Amino acid sequence: MTSQEVRAQFLNFFKEKNHKIVPSAPMVMKDDPTLMFTNAGMNQFKEYFLGNSVAKHKRLADTQKCLRVSGKHNDLEEVGKDTYHHTMFEMLGNWSIGDYFKKEAIQWAWELLTEVYKIDKESLYVSIFEGSEDDGLPLDQEAYDLWKAIVPEDRIIKGNKKDNFWEMGDQGPCGPCSEIHVDIRSKAEKAKIPGASLVNQDHPQVVEIWNLVFMQFNRKANGSLEPLPEKHIDTGMGFERLCMVLQGVQSNYDTDVFTPLIREIEIITGHKYGKDEKTDIAIRVIADHVRAVSFSIADGQLPSNTGAGYVIRRILRRAIRYGFTFLDTNQPFIHRLVKVLGEQMGAAFPELKEQKQLIENVIKEEESSFLSTLEQGLVLLDSVIKSAKEKTIDGEKAFELYDTFGFPIDLTSLILEEKGYTLDVQGFNKALKAQKDRSRAASEVSKDDWTVLMTDSEQEFIGYDSLEANVKLVKYRKISSKKEGDQYQLVFNLTPFYAEGGGQVGDKGYLEAPNGDVTYIVDTKRENNEIVHFAESLPDNVNETFKAVVDHKQRWRTACNHTATHLLHQALREILGPHVEQKGSAVHSKYLRFDFSHFAKLSVEELRKVENFVNARIDGHLPLEEHRNVPIKQAMEDGAMALFGEKYGDTVRTIRFGQSIELCGGTHVKNTGDIWYFKIVSEGAVAAGIRRIEAITSDAVKEFYFTNNRMLFEIKDLLHNTPDPVKAVASLQDENTALKKQVEQLLKDKAKGLKNDLIAELKEINGIQFLSKKVDLDAAGIKDLSFEIGGQIDNLFLLLASENEGKALLSCYISKELVASKNLNAGTIVRELGKYIQGGGGGQPFFATAGGKNPAGIPEALDKVKAYIS
Ligand code: ATP
Ligand code: MG
Repeated sequence: MTSQEVRAQFLNFFKEKNHKIVPSAPMVMKDDPTLMFTNAGMNQFKEYFLGNSVAKHKRLADTQKCLRVSGKHNDLEEVGKDTYHHTMFEMLGNWSIGDYFKKEAIQWAWELLTEVYKIDKESLYVSIFEGSEDDGLPLDQEAYDLWKAIVPEDRIIKGNKKDNFWEMGDQGPCGPCSEIHVDIRSKAEKAKIPGASLVNQDHPQVVEIWNLVFMQFNRKANGSLEPLPEKHIDTGMGFERLCMVLQGVQSNYDTDVFTPLIREIEIITGHKYGKDEKTDIAIRVIADHVRAVSFSIADGQLPSNTGAGYVIRRILRRAIRYGFTFLDTNQPFIHRLVKVLGEQMGAAFPELKEQKQLIENVIKEEESSFLSTLEQGLVLLDSVIKSAKEKTIDGEKAFELYDTFGFPIDLTSLILEEKGYTLDVQGFNKALKAQKDRSRAASEVSKDDWTVLMTDSEQEFIGYDSLEANVKLVKYRKISSKKEGDQYQLVFNLTPFYAEGGGQVGDKGYLEAPNGDVTYIVDTKRENNEIVHFAESLPDNVNETFKAVVDHKQRWRTACNHTATHLLHQALREILGPHVEQKGSAVHSKYLRFDFSHFAKLSVEELRKVENFVNARIDGHLPLEEHRNVPIKQAMEDGAMALFGEKYGDTVRTIRFGQSIELCGGTHVKNTGDIWYFKIVSEGAVAAGIRRIEAITSDAVKEFYFTNNRMLFEIKDLLHNTPDPVKAVASLQDENTALKKQVEQLLKDKAKGLKNDLIAELKEINGIQFLSKKVDLDAAGIKDLSFEIGGQIDNLFLLLASENEGKALLSCYISKELVASKNLNAGTIVRELGKYIQGGGGGQPFFATAGGKNPAGIPEALDKVKAYIS
């Protein structure tokens, strides 16, 4: 059975059991502060479980792209070393939102595995939760009894909290679970050791494939469990592991999900898979990681230096490093796997095919730059080794390499090992920990539990229509961080405040209590499905009715920028072509930023066209046409564009200005004429194939022109109010060039004159051509002059002095033949003469200088020098 068929049969099975098949949510999380990446199928349904929103369909099923590389579920270090954990994998799942519970979940799972997929019943084991004293929970008797009716008791295993109580993260929905494990060992192996003893023992051939979670609790910040309003089913089955079982192979990497990638790696690197454990690990790492990175880029998350982007960068670097170390690849090649991946998975995940070129470019650029970092690091490491006095290399040094060059520590120790050195691992870990502590202390946010004032309150957002409202506080909590200090998060029953989202910043404003007290709202964000206001303080009486007021000015400017962003998007697609896709945007009150896919720098001409296009639509006074609750299908038919990596509901809001139609939740002007004017202020590259435009509108454009105008007036003023400053500056420049030439010539003439004068003044003493004199030149001038005279006159002894800004300079030139025959040394001489000018110096025997802070001593020095030649 091909992997495509395995996936289709799963979805079909649950469709027949009245489940609504939904698309995978994006793998990269956008508005959940507790999670960077989707780590389980249930993430997108979390709000249903918590009772914060109401599900339209009570039975759901899908295949979800998951990534387990950070937070509570982190498998990164296992990946490649074992054969059944991936960074990115698909999780097949079925859900009941307050509908069916344990009985159906267990029966259907068994039916699907044994009757549809026809897995041998004898090879299956199940586990149930044994209970936990910490949480005061008993054994899951109900699940036990349900299983007992289907499988023999010796194949039901009681598991502890670690294996049989599933939690999404430190906080959030959770519950006891029942896992299904498969023993894929040979008959002979099975006869030797019973499978039951290998369940949950990290055995590569006795693996968990499906987890049925019975969602009943919410884990709170203080660690306690709170029963959920309703009971739910949440199941997750590892797709790649299921394929391994159904295709009768011993490793996920031997299924058709991975073999095309592995064949391609073999072709590119010339290393065969299955010959050597070290190269096998490297091949598995690369085959796995290219998936994680490609899916992430397709979802709009590019590698970067912070947050989710940094996690992705590290995954890609891990793959590059394994290739570099074990497959001898020192040229970019991982990007060449994207094509094969698209062919393999593009049918189920079209985003891979549609964005192939972008994914390839981004990966290739990352590869090139990290490979050159690796090379630089190798050179540096070499010099560290050369200067090492002992056979152990300092951990601090290795940390420096790691920290400033991103040079991975395992590679450092590997190279050291090869050269017969060892690494002070403890020292490295100490330095690493110190750095982590520093950054953690800076970014850690501690959150209290919510204090709930009103239950059962559905929050309403009225900010599209008004900027003020009378509101009641539903709940609040204190949060503290080093960066922001203490703040309060407030949730209201209704709110005019727009929460940061779709690139647009959150609203600011204030709350006014009946007695006139004011509480400032500094930001608004969406957390899960709620609009959370960040306040500087807590109002004295939290039970009042408050007047909530949005900062009108900021909102207005932001709306201008948001509408302009839509027009810019339209302009770019019209002018550059339909390959332009939005890759991120930031809509602030002061400016807007728009990232998009395009492969060349925009010419001045193109930028001008884009500006004109947008300004023409501003001048056209196009009215806002806003439609709320449009079925997504209809919106797409109308020509609205959905963005990759965005999650849309069944119904959407569309924003239309003329021919520009977007799915958008942001706030906009009522008419494009309100924007007044649009001006691009910069254009540049952010990554391979991704450009960024920054622009301003309305008030900011006025400010821009005022500033420029003021500058122009100042320039005119400096130019004595000439009517044509451009012409005046040009003629000043010409004049300046001519004057410079004249000065150069004059200086040359002067030096020539001085040289002739000095030569004329030379006196012969004891066969030496001697002169000591004060001149009006700087150090460089004196040096040039001395060498010029020296080139012309033999047996020269020249001591020149000068005074410059209160400092004295002595400069002594002695012809080389004198240095030898008369045993003279300019260095020694200036050092000794230095005492007259209160300074010191030195140099070579034939030329040396001394500087001092007493110009009054110059005449004495010039006089005393005669002693050296007489
Ligand atoms: P394991 O103990 O094997 O790491 P888990 O307990 O972490 O699994 P769950 O969180 O219950 O797994 O996830 C549900 C299913 O997803 C598992 O039964 C397994 O089939 C699959 N799965 C979990 N983690 C991975 C992974 N890193 N790679 C591939 N499949 C996975
Ligand atoms: Mg796990």
